[in-house]
Amino acid sequence: GFKMGIVGLPNVGKSTLFNALTRTAAAQAANFPFCTIEPNVGEVAVPDARLDKLVEIAKSQSIIPTRMTFVDIAGLVKGASKGEGLGNQFLANIRETDAIAHVLRCFEDDDVTHVEDRVDPVADAETIDTELMLADLESIEKRRAGLVRKIKGNDKDAVQQDRLLAQAQAAIEDGQPARVVEVDEDDAKAWRMLQLLTTKPVLYVCNVGVDDAAKGNAHSAAVAAMAEAQGNSAVVISAQIEEEISQLDADDAQMFLDDMNLEEAGLDRLIRAGYELLHLETYFTVGPKEARAWTIKQGTSAPKAAGVIHGDFEKGFIRAETIAYDDFVTLGGEGPAKEAGKMRAEGKSYIVKDGDVLHFLFNT
Ligand code: GDP
Repeated sequence: GFKMGIVGLPNVGKSTLFNALTRTAAAQAANFPFCTIEPNVGEVAVPDARLDKLVEIAKSQSIIPTRMTFVDIAGLVKGASKGEGLGNQFLANIRETDAIAHVLRCFEDDDVTHVEDRVDPVADAETIDTELMLADLESIEKRRAGLVRKIKGNDKDAVQQDRLLAQAQAAIEDGQPARVVEVDEDDAKAWRMLQLLTTKPVLYVCNVGVDDAAKGNAHSAAVAAMAEAQGNSAVVISAQIEEEISQLDADDAQMFLDDMNLEEAGLDRLIRAGYELLHLETYFTVGPKEARAWTIKQGTSAPKAAGVIHGDFEKGFIRAETIAYDDFVTLGGEGPAKEAGKMRAEGKSYIVKDGDVLHFLFNT
């Protein structure tokens, strides 16, 4: 599955947000209830109205949404790269994530201490970014030193790694995250394997006060501008509201949202934004027993998509019977879609599209 790490300075609302995410009624009602893997790791159902529609049509007995994992990574403070706070341990935690949800304090409240005694989310973002860049720089220098002998022996992989590390280093020394480096397709895999912290896409989560939840405020607007300039994204959320909503059942939650003039729970937007940031999409498997959503990267081939369900599906892949979501819904299910000639047999080179309803045929 895909994993987002929640980071931010102390007291910005990370834990409040994490608790809301993992306790929400939507997460619980789903057939895959959120489960705490570790105290700071939770799985969340990805909200998708299309899945409900498919169940309605196919009358499946159970509904299984796809999931995303969130990790609450506490302990990021100024000086973390030098071992302050929890230091290196949590840097290792960030390395294992696919993207970073960076919570920024955009609410004023004199009762909640700010580590720098002022509310300035853009400056806070820079503080954290600097720590991540310093951590990358340190690991780059170590790794390059470790490659010297292999390079002398003309080890091709080592030469490639060193060249990429040098590019990342140059960017960071220039004050930029490694994500600004443009990498050729030939280098893409080796680049990913470097697992640099500042290559991970960032979703800024502007935690605003209750009154600003619908429209945001000047702080969140400044963050949005920063995110856009970086090619990252931002969402506005009130962790306090989300925490309250997470304790309500679905009907009460909807009433609460209406009262607050909010169209949907911020957490739904947050999860979807994470999905977009990671260039993820969803395909479905639909039968009388269950309707289920599965997550893949955009551009995934049919056999690889089958492999998300089970490795054997990928190994023995023959073909994928495919119905586009719109055809499935407008025609009224698998049978009618098939009769109308809208069920396609797709082979190994087929690139799965968002919303495809798939049935895999494979050799065992
Ligand atoms: P963390 O250290 O980043 O995990 O922050 P917490 O989630 O523990 O929150 C720190 C404090 O800020 C707690 O007392 C929260 O109740 C409070 N807090 C979190 N979000 C908000 C908010 O949107 N508005 C206000 N006024 N307080 C908040």
